[in-house]
Amino acid sequence: MPQHASNTRVCRDCDGFATAAITTGTRHADGSRATLRVACPACKGTGHTTAPGALARTGR
Ligand SMILES: [Zn+2]
Repeated sequence: MPQHASNTRVCRDCDGFATAAITTGTRHADGSRATLRVACPACKGTGHTTAPGALARTGR
């Protein structure tokens, strides 16, 4: 059973985690960590599928 709200379609590709921050190991000049933010291509970083009919059929 899905635990998410039925009216909110969470992206299947990323399960809602649309942007993943990847630590590169390097640091900026101010000391903060440099991270790469990779947006999910399926939902374009929104974490939700706005067109479930079009996207839900991928992976067949
Ligand atoms: Zn996604």
